[in-house]
Order: sequence, then C-alpha cells, then structure tokens
Amino acid sequence: MEIKQKIENLRTELREHNYNYYVLDNATISDFEFDMKLKELQALEAKHPEFYDASSPTLRVGGTITKSFETVVHEHRMYSLDNSYSKEDLEDWEKRIQRILGDAPVEFTCELKYDGASISLTYENGQLVKGVTRGDGFQGDDVTSNIKTIRSVPLQLKGGYPPKFDIRGEIVLPFEGFAKMNQERIENGEDPYMNPRNTASGSLKLQDSALVAERPLDCLLYSIVGVNLKLESQSQMLEKARDWGFKVPKAAKLCKTTEEVLEFIDHWDKHRHELPYETDGVVIKVNSIQHQEELGYTSKSPRWAMAYKFKAEQVSTVLNEITYQVGRTGAITPVANLEPVLLAGTTVKRASLHNADQIEKLDIREGDTVFVEKGGEIIPKIVGVDFTKRPISSQPTQYIDHCPECNTPLERTEGDAKHYCPNEYGCPPQITGRIQHYISRKAMDIEGLGGETVELLFKEGLIENYADLYLLTKEQLIPLERMAEKSAENLVKGVAESVKIPFERVLFALGIRFVGETVAKKLAKAYKNIDSLMMATVEELMTVDEIGQRIAESVVSFFSNWINMEIISRLKGYGVQFEVSADKLENQTDLLKGQTFVVSGVFETLSRDELKKLIEDNGGKVGSSISSKTSYLVAGDKMGPSKRTKAEGLGVPIISETDFMNML
Ligand code: AMP
Ligand code: ZN
Repeated sequence: MEIKQKIENLRTELREHNYNYYVLDNATISDFEFDMKLKELQALEAKHPEFYDASSPTLRVGGTITKSFETVVHEHRMYSLDNSYSKEDLEDWEKRIQRILGDAPVEFTCELKYDGASISLTYENGQLVKGVTRGDGFQGDDVTSNIKTIRSVPLQLKGGYPPKFDIRGEIVLPFEGFAKMNQERIENGEDPYMNPRNTASGSLKLQDSALVAERPLDCLLYSIVGVNLKLESQSQMLEKARDWGFKVPKAAKLCKTTEEVLEFIDHWDKHRHELPYETDGVVIKVNSIQHQEELGYTSKSPRWAMAYKFKAEQVSTVLNEITYQVGRTGAITPVANLEPVLLAGTTVKRASLHNADQIEKLDIREGDTVFVEKGGEIIPKIVGVDFTKRPISSQPTQYIDHCPECNTPLERTEGDAKHYCPNEYGCPPQITGRIQHYISRKAMDIEGLGGETVELLFKEGLIENYADLYLLTKEQLIPLERMAEKSAENLVKGVAESVKIPFERVLFALGIRFVGETVAKKLAKAYKNIDSLMMATVEELMTVDEIGQRIAESVVSFFSNWINMEIISRLKGYGVQFEVSADKLENQTDLLKGQTFVVSGVFETLSRDELKKLIEDNGGKVGSSISSKTSYLVAGDKMGPSKRTKAEGLGVPIISETDFMNML
C-alpha cells in the first residue's frame, strides 16, 4: 500500500477509536492495541514528515513548550451568566422575558452548569485551529497546544459542519482522575490539590503540554457561535455539535413549561453527585435562536439565559475530637473526628481541618456542633460552627506545639500555613513514610515488601532508612510475625533486584521534597548522574525546564545534609543506579549547551522529532517560538514566512538542516 494511504488509514482508525472511547465512553479496542497502532503511526510520521498533519492523533501526547501564552482577542465575546438562587428568581426572569417577547410561547433548554474552566475553540474546515481561555471575556490566552492533548476535544470533525465557527465549553477534571492525581501527589510528599476546578484551569496554563496530556481532563461543550450558521434553536445546536464529534452531555433537556424547568432543577439537585464531574447548577436558555436575538444582551450577560446555582449540600454533626497526623515530610494535618453523618450519599466520619489558621479563624473546638459541606473537594470540609449549641464548658482549641509522634517542638516557616515536625530522622511516621515511598511502585517497585512490613521491620529495629533494606537477611526475617521462609526469600530477592531500577526512578525514590516523577526525570536528563546533581547550585537548577526556586532549594538542601549523603554513598556501594545508563548516554553530548533552537518546516533526512531529540541529547534546548533568547532557527521546507521575518527582525541566525548537522 502507498505510505500516504497507510498513514491516512491509521489516523482515521485511531481518531475513531479515540472518539468512541473518550466521547462516547465506549471502548472499541484494547489499550494495548491502541498503543501499538499509535506507535506505528508515530514511526511512519517520523519517517515521512512530508505528510505532516496538524490534527494527527499523535499530537495528543503533547511535547510543545510554551513559555508565555499569547493574548488573543475573541472574535465573538464570551459573556458571563446572570445567577439565580431560588424559584422566585427564576419566575421573575421568565416574566421579564415573556414581557419582551409578547405572547409567543417560549421554550427552554436546560443544561447542567459544569464547574471547570471555560474555553473557546475555533474550527476551520473541520480542523481545530485555536483554543483560547475566557480571560476577561474580550480576550484570553491562546492555549491551543495544551488543548490538543485533551482526548475528547476533536482535532478533526466528522462531516456536515460550517466552514468556520467557535464552540464554547468547559474543561473539567472528573472526580476519579482528580482523586488519582492527588493520590500521587500525596505519595510524592506534595500537598494535594484543593479542588478539580482550580486544577483544571491551572492545567491549561502549564508550559509543557506533555504534562497536560498526562492529566485526565475532559471537555464538555454547550454553545456554537459564528456568522451564518443557520441554527434555529439551542437544542438543535447541541444535537449538531454532538454529530460533528463533540462531547455534549446527554442530561440537556428541552422544557416546554416552567414546571418542567423546575423538575429538571429538582432532579439534578438530588442526583448531581452521581455525575462523574463537578456541577454547580443548571443553565436555563431560551431555546429559539430568533427569540435569543430579540432578547439580546446586557453589558455582561445574555438576557436569554439564566444560571440557577445549587446550594452546597450541608449537614451538622458533633465534632468529637481533633487529632493530628504526621506525613512523610513531617507536615502536620489536623483531622476532625466527627459523629458519623450522612452527606451527599456517603457516611462522613472525618474531615480535614487544613491547618491551625483555619481552626482559629472558624473558632472550631472539640464538642462543638459543626456544619459540614461537600464541595468540589473529595474530603468534606467544616465550614462553620453552630454557636447556639456550644457546650458551656467549651475551651478554645490549643493547637499542638509538639509532635504527637515524637514530641519534638513543631516549627512553622514564614508564609507556610502548615506546622512541621523537624525531627526528620527520628520521627517514626517520617522514617517509615520515606521507606514506604522508596519501595513504592513508581519508585523502586520492590516486590515482596509492603507498607505494613516496613512498619514491622522498623519496630523490630531492623531498618532505620532505605539503605538498611539492602542488609536484610533471610535469617533475620523468618522469626518475624507472619513471615514464612518463602516470603522472607522473596523480600530479600526483591530488594536485590531493585539495583536495576534506572537512575531517574532512584532519584524520585530518594523522596526529595517537591521532586515528583516528572521533576526527577527532568533532573536525571539534565544532570546525567548524582554527582553532578549534588554540585548544582539553586541558580543552575533553575535553568532546567519546569524547575522553579522552591524545587531547586529543596534539592540543594537535601544534598547538603550529611545523613542523606551517607545513605546515598551506601546505596552506591550496594549497586543502586546513580547515573543514566551507558546506552542512554551513548549518543549524548554537551555540544549545544546553553543554546536554544526553534525548529520549523519540513526536513529532508530527519523528522522534526528526531531533530528535536538530537538538540536535547546534545544539551541544547528546544523553544516553541522565536524570541530574542533564540540562538538559532533551524529552517526546513515550507516554513511560514512570518517566522523568517520575525527571526530576521530579532537578528536570530537562520540555519539549514545541513548547517545544524555540521554543528555536531
Ligand atoms: P459565571 O462564571 O458564574 O459567570 O458563569 C458563567 C460560566 O458558566 C460560563 O463562562 C461558562 O464557562 C460556565 N458554564 C458551565 N456550563 C455551562 C452551560 N451549560 N452553558 C453556559 N455556560 C456554562
Ligand atoms: Zn515527629
């Protein structure tokens, strides 16, 4: 078969599977098969850059770095919505509408109000060309490369669409994916994200689109705007958007009477917790587009639409006791132990109190009757105290000043809301927490050893840090509770095997604060081995992609501690990997260190990705847009004229593929 045809076929097939899975929620191929086909397409595209397509499914994995997002003026303004909080508010609104429209019967479309980050997507000839945040409604940020990684955003539409239009929707982070992300953060010793909405909008502004691709974001659409679209009603618009391949939730309903509108609201007020993503109300829209045009807009919102906000579900219960948890990093989290109570379909026994300030601000005390709410957060929160029920004997809460586990005086640094136990190497939950992190699946993945066994080994005095694991013997283990000969053997074997784990994961396993999986990868790539990483200063570290001051300082402080240095030196002795393996290193040099390249156009011998990899392997950086910081523009065939003009204007040298190869 002709290569071009083969590429086209793979793209069409993957697009369809992607649509079935992410839009229709109905998988038609196994993950494995999908990955194989995607890899095949990636390889073909790399070999044949002449068939580049801006809407290929391979673009979903991201990889573009955007240093600062360009401001874009919305062709059609993004309006806000008026809010209502009661049935009376709604009835008043309907009366106002009816007055303007006269006697004509008015129908409404009711939709859920998705709680995320609003987005406007521009499509031309069926292809996604732009994704822009709402901003102030007049102009927003161009986040196209990040949007392209969201699987439910179609890059190429199915037939029947107008040549050009904008479609508006909401980027949301479904609960399940949000919980998973937080689980990982907790394992990395980072604070969990507060709620899905902020995390969704934060995701859109990440500089590295590959990181966005890893987040389980979803895009729900609700409105099409443009000129000459020939649409007659809101419900028809939703139907069309669905036909073109967009994800439009099925809950939307055409209502002929006010009663039906109120029924819709009542229904979803009760059932919204069954939805996979967060909603904060219902949006009621006049269905007929002609009516919408007659009603028009106020200075900030359409007169033909109204949001109805749900009340957050709230219950009151007694706070029995405040206890304190110590995390792997020593952070103290106060926990409210509640009289069990039913809230939004689940029994709640505990709620997070966040920190000392929060307790003081709300004046929360043991014995109080408190109001508990479930907002976007997975863990319910206490929003206030019912002071009328406060017992007479009540005393203000004295926040602990000593660690509940090791009795060390707690510390609190300026600007940090949390208290910390500074006894890093003597505080039991910190010690075991670090070892548990070291052995975890994404770190050293030690088979035959689990979190409880770590606690047992620590209690028995067999381990005090993760280097001690390598000294364990079968004979020491067999006498322990629930430890048979076979399991002892497996444990020792699992530990021994871990010396094969690559450097980037070892770096993650060390448990340096704020160094999660991704950061560990970036550091391993930039420094190649632990010795050069140890020598790095805060300023040097900050020149690495995605490494900010907070991370850089944490790395430097970790390596300036002699206990850590001693543990690392022991691990080295046991054979743990502290450098990038030789075959990975083979093709790497420092030849292009300190230089930034922008790659544009189509090349003869290399694909764009191969070229970028060569730059990075040789110590250079790949930039996404030309600026005064660009060292070279590597120009291939079909490069846009605007890039050339910009490079010339800034005096950035333009080089060819051959010039580049000569540099190496
Ligand atoms: P507000 O931010 O309270 O002014 O509410 C307006 C925002 O609600 C819009 O900017 C949209 O992002 C969002 N929204 C969520 N769901 C819908 C929907 N079904 N129809 C219209 N807007 C919606
Ligand atoms: Zn402690």
